[in-house]
Amino acid sequence: MSDFDYDLFVIGGGSGGVRAARIAATHGARVAIAEEYRYGGTCVIRGCVPKKLFVYASRFSEEFEDAEGFGWHVGERSFDWSRLIAGKDKEIARLEGIYRRNLERTGVELFDSRAVLEGPHTVRLTASDRIISARYILIATGATPNVDPDLPGGEHVITSNEAFHLAEMPKRVVVAGGGYIAVEFAGIFNGLGAETTLIYRGEEILRGFDDDMRKALHEEMEKKGIRILTHDAFVAIEKAADGSVIGTTRKGETLAADQILFAIGRRPNIAGLGLEKAGVEVTDGGAIRVDAASCTSVPSIYAVGDVTDRANLTPIAIREGHAFADTVFGNKPWTVDHSLIATAVFSQPELGTVGLSQAEALKRTPNLDIYKTSFRPMKHTLSGRDEKMHMKLIVDADSDKVLGVHILGHDAGELAQVLGITLEMGATKADFDRTIAVHPTVAEELVTMREPTERLRG
Ligand code: FAD
Repeated sequence: MSDFDYDLFVIGGGSGGVRAARIAATHGARVAIAEEYRYGGTCVIRGCVPKKLFVYASRFSEEFEDAEGFGWHVGERSFDWSRLIAGKDKEIARLEGIYRRNLERTGVELFDSRAVLEGPHTVRLTASDRIISARYILIATGATPNVDPDLPGGEHVITSNEAFHLAEMPKRVVVAGGGYIAVEFAGIFNGLGAETTLIYRGEEILRGFDDDMRKALHEEMEKKGIRILTHDAFVAIEKAADGSVIGTTRKGETLAADQILFAIGRRPNIAGLGLEKAGVEVTDGGAIRVDAASCTSVPSIYAVGDVTDRANLTPIAIREGHAFADTVFGNKPWTVDHSLIATAVFSQPELGTVGLSQAEALKRTPNLDIYKTSFRPMKHTLSGRDEKMHMKLIVDADSDKVLGVHILGHDAGELAQVLGITLEMGATKADFDRTIAVHPTVAEELVTMREPTERLRG
């Protein structure tokens, strides 16, 4: 090992890179890590964490309204954007400090610099031009938001990166995109009081999720006042003299806003990384090609997280980083199972999902029993809010195994986490039926759906 400066050099101090560095160091490896922006990466600095804080902020408007039905008189309300931003920034700085300290505590050497590959065992720190050698290199550089480079006026739009740092709360927002980041931001700005439009070129929001949930979320978002335009996209953006951003769509609509936020997908962060110099192959979609052990086409170079475009979520990047470090430095080989992932969309209402959508399940299993329910949660009997909770179980009719659970409504993300355990254990519908309900909860509906609403055969 002494032929190299380090046993492991990690490029990128986000979810995957930090976990890998720390675990490798605890296995006794000499580890260094380079981060070009801020430790914690997308999730902590400009992803999951600030996003969830914004979601909390935006939900209060409905809470204040709902309180009236329970006898509360909430006085005049006002919202201070700069206070939210300051609170969020303070919390993010605190978390970044923890990430740094945890790395240092395990003996990892930190470089505040961009790092690029120079060869199969060498990287260059661009801040100092220093060349460093390592037996293994881990690429954990994440992904970056897409904006159509050919869109005229594309420079006038923002992405999720900028949305967390706006000087003022926009009063009119248009979100372009239909994925989870787009629907989350539409819910945030709408909840904070902005006039909000979502424009998506596809047929329905949240491609890849269960179709019933996509449709139900679409309806619930519209009930909350979000305007949703599908089958349409921007063809040009202009900046008006009064500072408004004006987008023209393919169908000829003109949408004026204080901010147009593009959330049309993310691309793996490989630009200028020196992959060609080291001989690292990429996929047609521009992600780093890896095997199940996260090894690239170069045996000394591994890659984890969003840069590999497998399942672009923080817990997955963390798992992949952990598995890599255990396998290469801990003599404990294991790989990440990407087949059953519990996840949440922090839309309003929230979507929690585990396992297969009905469309996915049908591709794998000919006979399905579908259990669906939608109901008004008890809270809304007094609040008067016109919002329904939706639940769906997808069951393999032959084995009785529950293949998917989908929930749209309050705390659906929390429920998805717990349901994830049951599906990991191979729960059957009979297991759900045997489980005694917790009353009165919304979740009890999950164990009281007796008759299938649909039986799909063949
Ligand atoms: P990242 O966390 O992106 O870390 C990569 C790091 O590498 C960055 O810090 C970057 O600055 C650094 N870097 C890049 N190139 C170099 C270089 N050449 N040299 C040095 N440093 C470099 N996931 C969830 O699970 N739940 C959520 O609710 C959720 N919400 C999200 C909301 C938003 C708005 C966004 C954008 C993402 C969200 N995600 C969420 C996704 C999640 O953030 C990512 O899946 C996760 O951060 C991926 O981790 P990673 O280690 O692959 O990369």
